[in-house]
Amino acid sequence: MPELACATKNGWEAFASKADRSRIDTLARKYLDFISRCKTERETIAHAAASLAGAGFSQDFAADTVFRVFHGKSLFAARRGKTPLSGGLRLVAAHADTPRLDLKQHPLLEQAGVGQAKTHYYGGVRKYQWLARPLALHGVVVKEDGSVTPVILGEDPREPVFTIADLLPHLAQKQVTQTVADAFEAEKLNIIIGHRPLPDKNDKDASKKTKDPIKAQALALLHAKYGIREEDLYSAELQAVPAGPGRVVGLDEALIGAYGQDDRICVFTALEAFLEAKTPDSPACLMLWDKEEIGSAGSTGAQSRFLEYCLQDLIAAWEPETRFRDIMRRSRAVSADVHGALDPDWQELHEKLNAAVIGHGPCMCKFTGSRGKHGANDAHPEYVAWLRAMLNTRGIPWQMAELGKVDAGGGGTVALYLAAYGLDVIDMGPALLGMHSPFELASKVDIYATKLAYQGFFEA
Ligand code: MN
Ligand code: MN
Repeated sequence: MPELACATKNGWEAFASKADRSRIDTLARKYLDFISRCKTERETIAHAAASLAGAGFSQDFAADTVFRVFHGKSLFAARRGKTPLSGGLRLVAAHADTPRLDLKQHPLLEQAGVGQAKTHYYGGVRKYQWLARPLALHGVVVKEDGSVTPVILGEDPREPVFTIADLLPHLAQKQVTQTVADAFEAEKLNIIIGHRPLPDKNDKDASKKTKDPIKAQALALLHAKYGIREEDLYSAELQAVPAGPGRVVGLDEALIGAYGQDDRICVFTALEAFLEAKTPDSPACLMLWDKEEIGSAGSTGAQSRFLEYCLQDLIAAWEPETRFRDIMRRSRAVSADVHGALDPDWQELHEKLNAAVIGHGPCMCKFTGSRGKHGANDAHPEYVAWLRAMLNTRGIPWQMAELGKVDAGGGGTVALYLAAYGLDVIDMGPALLGMHSPFELASKVDIYATKLAYQGFFEA
């Protein structure tokens, strides 16, 4: 009698050999270095571009392994297969942007003895999680001459960090009775950037005293360090992110805690898989997008035409007789994005039979959306069956889940924008604890299993 019931498998039991454990640790170390260094979409795309260039990928689409970067924020890469483009391709798409606090275009102000930078949050942040913690500034400032000045400040332990002061409990009597939505105001997410006033040369004549001397000091220091003045901040993208590296978590060192794992854990595992699947049958594509956290809009998001333009250029270079639409409707894709793991302390918000468990391998999510599957790509069962067979044949632990109880909330990914082309697509990625928090948790074994799953997808 064959086993009729199904159960997910704990990845640590599936990969119990000494050799597996050593491969898991090697990949986790590489990941920890990546996730600690790549904190913005630009840094992530630059890392991917450097890895691809290092592996011999060319920006000339006539080559067999190619890549293209757009605005430093999205990236397309492709590798020739044994079969032609007309037979369809295998595409894995992940997103490189993460929730954070963006500095406003006119950020600097001075009040109550401190200099501050005003922010506008990006993506789904729980505002209170950003208070009373060390923050680093990452981004670019573009001057009128077009020169781009990269900024990374607050990561080196010798550098200063920034922070948002939280309200003292002594004065929070009213706040603690408010709803979370009312208690934490976006306009109070002001980052402390300084405190000491610029020494005043005109201190004898009160009418000539420098206005806002703490802000003036901040501007003087920014000018000394980066050669910028206040107006340059209009053409800047500066992001406040949690300062410091990711860490190994737990006595058994089995988890990774870090900022920005949604969705850089998929960027990393997809890139590793794409680089390692060197002789795929079908042509292989890797797509890294920006702006997923704010609806996939903009010229670098999944709703843009960048992927389409790249594929048309690829067709012109590789197979001009083939039509774009014929490739797309024969193609298979994975929307490589994370899933919310069953939270041990909030189990009542999950429907446990359909919840993902951390450590049980990459999670397939047949549909996303909310309130009656609204806004979902609903993967076709024929495609799910093919993926099941691919994962089972390779002995890769995996699970099928949906995000939370019906009507408890929900979310979306880039899957529906890919589905619009007619290709088969499903969401698949590791489950995280504390998703969208400044310190998200991932299982080392899920990183390993997800990389194997994406590699299997390219190679199957
Ligand atoms: Mn995501
Ligand atoms: Mn997200």
